[in-house]
Amino acid sequence: MHIELTELLRCPESHQADPLVLSTGEMAGRMVRTGLVGCPVCRKEYPIVKGVVYFTRGRGKAEGVRGARPADAGTLQALLDLSGPGGYVVLLGSATRHAVGLAGLIDGIHFVGTNAPPGAEELPVLSLLECATIIPLRPSIARGVVVGADLARAPWIAEAQRVLLRGRRLVIEDEGAALPDGVRGLGAGHGLVVGEKS
Ligand SMILES: [Zn+2]
Repeated sequence: MHIELTELLRCPESHQADPLVLSTGEMAGRMVRTGLVGCPVCRKEYPIVKGVVYFTRGRGKAEGVRGARPADAGTLQALLDLSGPGGYVVLLGSATRHAVGLAGLIDGIHFVGTNAPPGAEELPVLSLLECATIIPLRPSIARGVVVGADLARAPWIAEAQRVLLRGRRLVIEDEGAALPDGVRGLGAGHGLVVGEKS
């Protein structure tokens, strides 16, 4: 996990979202490879192992992915309307695989993969979080969110809306998925649904 992501994390327990506290172990550049994230409210501690922050063990169960072709990075960049550098883009489930392609097109954006497929590894441009119940991030922090086909369902689509900044885009890799409340539809096709947070 990139060390600067710490201030954007939130505890998945249902209490007020005070900032979490990071204790670092091994670092690799700006990435925390081992450590602990602690909640000052409920006192829970979440381990960082091989760079991945484990809020819960066991990811949100993957469903069979419907057979849409994966979107290419250029299409996603355009749909997300990502031009300038800076900020965070959240990638849910199988959408984590887009981090490398998107990072190759746009500099200076940090990607946050939540519940990535098994075997995913963190990168200097990609932090990985595991949580079975929520996206463990504070509200309205992401410049864009891509929901992978494996997590294109409750609660993840509503969580995607929660972490997205107003006026920014949500892409769901499932043409049949319904956009959450608070997201205006911009179109659907080629296996994707696109909306903008209002
Ligand atoms: Zn807590």
